[in-house]
Amino acid sequence: MRAKRSKTYRKLMQQYGMAFGFREPYQVLVDAPLIRDAARFKMSLGRMLSGVLHGEIKPMITQCCIRHLYDLETTNDTERKQKEEWIEVAKQAERRRCGHHELETPLSALQCLESVVDPKASNTNKNRYVVATQELEVRQRLRRCAGVPLIYINKSVMILEPMAAKSEDVRDADERAKVRAGLKGRRGAVTGEKRRRSEIEDVVDEAPDRANAIAASEAAEAAKDPLTELPMQKKRKVKGPKGPNPLSAKKAKPVKGKSVGRQDEDERAAVRKAMKRDPQAPEKAVGAGAGVGEDGGLKADGTRKRKRKRKVKVGEATMGAEVDVMAA
Ligand SMILES: [Zn+2]
Repeated sequence: MRAKRSKTYRKLMQQYGMAFGFREPYQVLVDAPLIRDAARFKMSLGRMLSGVLHGEIKPMITQCCIRHLYDLETTNDTERKQKEEWIEVAKQAERRRCGHHELETPLSALQCLESVVDPKASNTNKNRYVVATQELEVRQRLRRCAGVPLIYINKSVMILEPMAAKSEDVRDADERAKVRAGLKGRRGAVTGEKRRRSEIEDVVDEAPDRANAIAASEAAEAAKDPLTELPMQKKRKVKGPKGPNPLSAKKAKPVKGKSVGRQDEDERAAVRKAMKRDPQAPEKAVGAGAGVGEDGGLKADGTRKRKRKRKVKVGEATMGAEVDVMAA
C-alpha cells in the first residue's frame, strides 16, 4: 500500500512538472493547523513533505499563518511550551510576504492563501506553490485553481490529493498538444525556465534534526554564492564593440600638458631628485626594470632596494646588482 502510494505521488508530481512547470525545490506553503497536527503526530514535517512530493522542498509560511500561531491563547505551561515549539517549526520556513501584516488581525488561511496563490483570481497558480493545509475549505477553493498540488495530514499519514478536475483538464490538453506537436516524452517548454533556488532540505523539522537542517541550509547558502556571482562574470564578457574604433577615432588632445613625453619627463625629474638623495638611484631604477612611477612609488621602491643592497654589499657589489635584477 505504502509503496503503491509513493509511486502514485511520484507520477503525480511528474505530471505537475510536465503540465505546470513544477520543479525542485518545491515551494510549499504550510498553514498553522498543519504545523500543529504534524507536531501532534510527531512527524518530521520537512521530511514528510519532501517524501510525499518526491523531491527537495522549500517550506514557506505566510505572515498571517505564522500569526495564527503567535495569537494562540495558552492557559498553562504545557500549552505555552507546545506553542513555542510550533512557532520554532514555523520559523524554519521561509516567510512569505502576503502584505496583510499591517492588518490588526491576520486574515484567515483561506483568504490569505488564496491571495498568495492566485492574487488575480484567475484560477491559476503562477508561482507554482504546493499548498499543505489542514483546512478543508482552503483545499476546496484551491482545487478550482489549475495546478495546485494539495497536501494534508489524515491521522498520521500525509496525503497528496489526486489532481483536481480542473488541473486534469489542463494536463490533458497539454498532453494532447504535445502529441500533436510530436513532442510527447519531451520536457515541455514550461520546464525550460530557469529559477535560482537554494537546496534547503528538511528545514521545517523537529528539534533533533534542527541542527542538521541549519547546517544544510548554511551549506546551501554557501553553495549559492558562486551561482549568484556567475551572471556577473558573464556580464563582463559583453560582446560587440567596447568603444569607438581606435583607428577611426580622433586622437585625444593631451590633458593639461600631461602628454606621454611629459610623463617621461616627470619620471626623469623624479629620478634626478632621487639621485640627489642617493646617487645610485638611477641604476636601481634601471635594475628594477619596472621604471619609475609604476606602482606610484619611486621612494618606496628605492628604500626597499637600498635595504637589500646593503645586506649583500658587505660581500660583493655585483652580487647585489644581480639580486636586484632578480628581485625585479
Ligand atoms: Zn496574509
